[in-house]
Amino acid sequence: MNDEIFWAEQRAIDAASRGQQADPTACGTCQDNVKAGEQVEHEECAQRATLLQAPDHPSYELLAGVSMEENAKLPARFHIPVFDDCGKPNAWLCAVCQEEGAVSLWPCKTATEQGTKVFTPAHEAETALRRQAARIAELEKAARKAQEPMERLALAFENTGEPEIGRQIRSAIKAGAATQ
Ligand SMILES: [Zn+2]
Ligand SMILES: [Zn+2]
Repeated sequence: MNDEIFWAEQRAIDAASRGQQADPTACGTCQDNVKAGEQVEHEECAQRATLLQAPDHPSYELLAGVSMEENAKLPARFHIPVFDDCGKPNAWLCAVCQEEGAVSLWPCKTATEQGTKVFTPAHEAETALRRQAARIAELEKAARKAQEPMERLALAFENTGEPEIGRQIRSAIKAGAATQ
């Protein structure tokens, strides 16, 4: 097989696998095509990359109460770009590298250093989330048994290089206080 035929075939395979997802703003024809399991008719109606946060992405409140330095230590999957269209000039910022009055451009230091771990599939984040939830439940149980104040436990984690667990405990304390 000569190169030209090879590449023509590759392009055909590529084209056939493209456009099975319609963008939410796609025209009616393309939406119907996709519903029927076919390709979109117009290239501009195909869905392009969309950026989803990890299912365990920390909330704005959690991020705001912590220093930029601590937020930078969060797992790489949280360091995704967000476009700031209000700032002057507009810019791509890191979703978590922020503190009161300061933000980091994307890619931030963490996203650069751990580039391949930034965009993780959802199931990986979910596994991490489950593991973390189990660990926290275990710790809560241990803390109750030892009558250790949860605050002190959170502090211990924050001081031993696991700030994320620390802040999860703090949010659990806050949630607990809210329901009492
Ligand atoms: Zn269309
Ligand atoms: Zn970051």
